[in-house]
Amino acid sequence: MNPTTFEESGYSFTLVNIDCLRESTHFNVVMRLETSIEELLPYLAACLTGCTYVHGSGVINLMDEGHIVAIYPEQITLTDVRGAKEAAALCQSYYERILKVQARKDTITPLYEARLTLGVLDIYRMLPRTNCGICQLPTCMAFAAQVHRREGSIADCTPLLAEIGQAKYAQFLDRMRRNGYETPASH
Ligand code: SF4
Repeated sequence: MNPTTFEESGYSFTLVNIDCLRESTHFNVVMRLETSIEELLPYLAACLTGCTYVHGSGVINLMDEGHIVAIYPEQITLTDVRGAKEAAALCQSYYERILKVQARKDTITPLYEARLTLGVLDIYRMLPRTNCGICQLPTCMAFAAQVHRREGSIADCTPLLAEIGQAKYAQFLDRMRRNGYETPASH
């Protein structure tokens, strides 16, 4: 399927079919900004809870309700979007956030030091990634997102300890604790 592009005031966005199936309703979205937000990135990073940002890298990464989002000076990419309607709402929401941060820039302390929080992808990478379903969720990514939102416990992935071993498990729990997560006692 050819990419589909929509023009809006201040930006455009393109849906890219990720499954290479004509009937697929899952897309990646590339949102192109008419004006670069390069100078705004440290201000945006200061306002986006749970994002990962290293000043000078030119990109903010975050997980937003199951979408992996990357914000660059001239474009924003979002994964796993279900069609044009959701893409339009997400793009509009990010554009409005940009305008709001721009409008109150003088009141925001920009993030010039590295902020490498424990993001959803960090949690996901620790998991067995077998999508076994023991945690009652269909995928390990869904589980990681739930834990990241503080709506689930890492202990519910019972295969994890056997998969990574006691030492690595304890280290991971310690990192979670330092990021404000409640964790089970390591054995
Ligand atoms: S129990 Fe663990 S490995 Fe299995 S689906 Fe859930 S998160 Fe993935």
